[in-house]
Amino acid sequence: MALKLICPNCGYLVRPKKVVKGSILIEVFLWLLFIIPGLLYSLWRLSTKTSVCPACGTPNPVPIDSPRGRKLLDEFGYKK
Ligand SMILES: [Zn+2]
Repeated sequence: MALKLICPNCGYLVRPKKVVKGSILIEVFLWLLFIIPGLLYSLWRLSTKTSVCPACGTPNPVPIDSPRGRKLLDEFGYKK
């Protein structure tokens, strides 16, 4: 089930989508060079996965079924 999120900055309704920070090239390079740094870099990239607003890039949009999300829906004038 895709829970909708609302951007607290611009009010854009965000469909959850994960973005991964870092570079796949660096990851492959580290894997080729050493096993352990490659593994650590992979884990770091996975740990930095976060949702962002596609309209303004603000991280961590708020779920619309949370109290804060409902307040934001009202603030940005969305009708339920
Ligand atoms: Zn936004």
